[in-house]
Amino acid sequence: TFDVSAPWLNRVVERKPRQFVHAVDGVSFAIERGRTLALVGESGCGKSTVARLLVGLYEPTRGEVRFDGRPTREVLASREGRALRRRMQMIFQDPYASLNPRWKVEDIIAEPLREHGLLKDATARRQRVGELLQSVGLSPADAGKYPHQFSGGQRQRISIARALATQPEFLVCDEPTSALDVSVQAQVLNLMKDLQRERQLTYLFISHNLAVVHHVADEVGVMYLGRLVELAPKRELFARPQHPYTRMLLDAIPDIRMTGRARTPVQGEVPNPLDPPGGCAFHPRCPHANGRCARERPPLQALRGVQVACHAVEEGRI
Ligand code: SF4
Repeated sequence: TFDVSAPWLNRVVERKPRQFVHAVDGVSFAIERGRTLALVGESGCGKSTVARLLVGLYEPTRGEVRFDGRPTREVLASREGRALRRRMQMIFQDPYASLNPRWKVEDIIAEPLREHGLLKDATARRQRVGELLQSVGLSPADAGKYPHQFSGGQRQRISIARALATQPEFLVCDEPTSALDVSVQAQVLNLMKDLQRERQLTYLFISHNLAVVHHVADEVGVMYLGRLVELAPKRELFARPQHPYTRMLLDAIPDIRMTGRARTPVQGEVPNPLDPPGGCAFHPRCPHANGRCARERPPLQALRGVQVACHAVEEGRI
């Protein structure tokens, strides 16, 4: 089996001026080939750190990331490192910032090919660029244009074409549609799903938007202050959310759960990650918190058929 997993991915530390933050702590999950795991949570929860860890842009201070069963750190440092980099690509949030405005589209899409020494013949490279543009719903004639000649959605299609240039198997998508208008978001998400089916792609999808997650994910991981608090198949998570934080996020968008209840805005603020609360980090915002919650950090464990980190679920209080 193909697997991108992060067992015991502990204590990723990000440097802040004179202080350290445990940006990700004890996060562990696996993604099967051809599937989409979405990581969701408010900003600052560590989901983008996990994304960068998986493609080797950050290194964990403890734990490891495995790709296809092998530790990525080891492989990236070896002679096979380049081949591994080709197999993993990243799509970023902002198609305006991630495309060089002075380059033609053909140069932007061909950049990874040049970087990896692939398709050195100019004609073959041009042909590949044309095919990639077609595969994302653009025209080969667009190759000679510049990014400013395209709409936001089209620019994100160009980013996707660039990410596909090396024929990767695994794509990390960091909020790829959040800078786009809602109507355009659906088109880009549908394109990504089509490409996944055609090319057997595996996605790690980062989003703060549960409607987007509902559209794309097979499995969902909910993160809070650097930790996974719930990990479940999408259907299960949306039908029967267990963790109070997951419930709070879902109650803010009742149209997805179709409960008919009024939307309840997310309560409270995310605490300062430099000074996280003891015990369960969610306890200052949790309507079910008790003394144990303030003292003991709940482990992520198998409960009610999903993975969840909550004393109240374990005790059957909720
Ligand atoms: Fe709420 Fe306690 Fe569960 Fe944390 S452990 S989510 S504070 S009930």
